[in-house]
Amino acid sequence: MAARRHIDAHTHVFPNRAGLAVRVMDRCGIRCSVTLGWEDAFGGRLDEQLRAFAGHPGRFAPLCNIDFSRVDSQDFGQQEADSLERAVEKGCHGLKIFKSLGLSVRTGDGELLRVDDPRLDPVFERAAELGVPVLIHTADPAAFWQPPGPDNFWGGVLDGEYAGWSYYRKGLPSREELLGERDRLLSRHPQTIFVAPHLASLADDPLALAESLERHPNLYVDISARLPAMARTEARRRTWRETIIRFADRVLFGTDLIYDDQGVAAGIQSQSFQRPGEADTAGLPPEEAFLRTSAAYLDSHLRFLTSEETQEKAPFRRQQGTFRLAGLGLEGPVLEKVLQANAARIYGIS
Ligand SMILES: [Zn+2]
Repeated sequence: MAARRHIDAHTHVFPNRAGLAVRVMDRCGIRCSVTLGWEDAFGGRLDEQLRAFAGHPGRFAPLCNIDFSRVDSQDFGQQEADSLERAVEKGCHGLKIFKSLGLSVRTGDGELLRVDDPRLDPVFERAAELGVPVLIHTADPAAFWQPPGPDNFWGGVLDGEYAGWSYYRKGLPSREELLGERDRLLSRHPQTIFVAPHLASLADDPLALAESLERHPNLYVDISARLPAMARTEARRRTWRETIIRFADRVLFGTDLIYDDQGVAAGIQSQSFQRPGEADTAGLPPEEAFLRTSAAYLDSHLRFLTSEETQEKAPFRRQQGTFRLAGLGLEGPVLEKVLQANAARIYGIS
């Protein structure tokens, strides 16, 4: 078992899989995982999650979600703000908003609810008063709006069972529109800490992310599930290294690991290897295979941050070929902040 030191700032854990998550965390030296829910972390489902995590004191920092089915009620924002406050009293460390805001949540009149819709303002103001961050996923890489296929860098996650993730020609708002809504939201609530996961959907454009971080002192990002884009070329690897060093106080290590019944039954971490046989788990019982592929995925993130070695067969879903992943080799205080100190500070994890 590795020494428990780091904080994984982005995971999704089924309540009945909390014990399994702890086993993976122990293997990889993770002292605490921030868990984001499944768009259902409110009411009775939140209570169920909190009960499961309470069985592992200090190992999980749960976030709550917004109940968008109530969007048409008169005092929606106020009620959700109150619901956030109750969730924090019960032990939640913040609020997670899924990318469905802006892309699929609709009001009764059929219109998409905008990321910066004023109806949500009371929620963001309350988060600031309570001193808890809002982790908000807006948009995705540009490739999600482009034709899927072998030439698409994210093609491996845009076809087959994941075809629904592609926004190509689906009449949805453009990426620029969504990111513009997010910008206005960040400016309107300067006292609220926002964490934009997956490098704020700007993993293909480190300069744009640096500009966003300059413009919005209340913006933080996690690196989860975007390593292949960061290490795509040596030029990008170097630029990302410099960017993270420059904004070391606002970058969080996270994985987006998913601990669900489906993954355990299939014997594979769904964020990980795409093709059968790649994970070398033949003969292992499904739960053990799931554990091993989850740990490999987590370990790949850690090695990417901590060393300059090249991972020749990095465990990421892909269309074809392999992802060689040359590491950033961060060290000293920068590494410490990214691996745990930033998450500990903003989420109040001891
Ligand atoms: Zn996620």
